[in-house]
Amino acid sequence: MKLPIYLDYQATTPVDPRVLETMLPYFHDQFGNAASRSHSFGWKAEEAVENAREQVAALIGGSSKEIIFTSGSTEAINLAIKGVAEMYASKGKHVITSLAEHKAVLDTCKHLEKLGYEVTYLKPDRTARISSEQVRDALRPDTILVTVMWANNEVGTLNPIREIGTLCRERGVIFFTDATQAVAKVPVDVEADHVDLLCLSAHKIYGPKGIGALYVRRKNPRVRLAAQMDGGGHERGMRSGTLNVPGIVGLGKACEIGRLELDAESRRCRELRDHLESRIRKELGHVELNGHAEYRLPGNLNLSFHFVEGESLIMGISDIAVSSGSACTSASLEPSHVLRSMDVGEDLAHSSIRFGIGRFTTREEVDYAADAVIKAVRRLREMSPLFELAQEGVDLKTVQWQGNH
Ligand SMILES: *Cc1c(COP(=O)(O)O)cnc(C)c1O
Repeated sequence: MKLPIYLDYQATTPVDPRVLETMLPYFHDQFGNAASRSHSFGWKAEEAVENAREQVAALIGGSSKEIIFTSGSTEAINLAIKGVAEMYASKGKHVITSLAEHKAVLDTCKHLEKLGYEVTYLKPDRTARISSEQVRDALRPDTILVTVMWANNEVGTLNPIREIGTLCRERGVIFFTDATQAVAKVPVDVEADHVDLLCLSAHKIYGPKGIGALYVRRKNPRVRLAAQMDGGGHERGMRSGTLNVPGIVGLGKACEIGRLELDAESRRCRELRDHLESRIRKELGHVELNGHAEYRLPGNLNLSFHFVEGESLIMGISDIAVSSGSACTSASLEPSHVLRSMDVGEDLAHSSIRFGIGRFTTREEVDYAADAVIKAVRRLREMSPLFELAQEGVDLKTVQWQGNH
């Protein structure tokens, strides 16, 4: 077993060797510009791009004509939200989203507010879920877009996408979902789920960084977007710029593998995740699960440890790469906006750790991580006077603190 152990698969993933191998020819031998129409270098590149488009579409149940390549999910999110807002402004200027979304969605919505749009930020429940009833209650005659993520990147919670999609379709409102964490992990079908726009990113599914895609529904209804990048009119005019052919080929291959191996991989990740959780719970008390026990990504485990501070814990398990809910935006010491939106208290938010399990995680690694976490939490708690009081049976909520507690 090699150290350090990577358990941060929601942040990014290593490129699958099969993906890398598929990409390599497109850097040197087949380096053509997919927009070159007059020679075989261009034709070969275009063929590779169109093959990848099919592979991406197959993963999500769309058609290849509905796939727009972007530099990743952040760009796809900007294009979807700003593109709809601009295109449908005459119809209305109201957008619905949730407080637990990725910053790329939240900051794009904030940008719209500066331009005079109105945004409703739905508050998720304690498990980070948004219900279709909440969306229904927030819909207005001037609502032009609902944007709710499929799977949360911090706590792994899955939203009721089909219900929200069905509702939006009934009301004639465009529905966009950030499926960056969901595709290749849980079944996604833009037809059955009534999704109009969907983004995904290669580096979250064992493809390269800097490439992703936006699905844009072409019929029932046809969704139109105002381009956010002007230029040569690539990607049906929605995203100009010479295509990143090796990246696109890699994204396509990653989607193909993701589709073919989804069931087996989800099962494997879930088993490892559940093993990690049960080992930790068996040895440690005062552990809270952040997120939903059932509606959850198979490879995600987000736990808070009472009487422990997240940063100290991360330092205590320094040969295991995980994320903490307290240092998400590295410079600030603010706890994560996702945990805050779920009303996880400040202390528990600061003690939260996200374990991300993925394709290359082994049982041996999970056991090593479990041992390390158990040992580190015990050691930190031994130094905690609060833990000592709790062990003695003192109810900390009833303690009269001196000073500014
Ligand atoms: C990683 C991530 C993004 C951003 O994707 P990039 O391709 O890195 O820009 C957006 N949303 C979610 C849910 C993510 O996990």
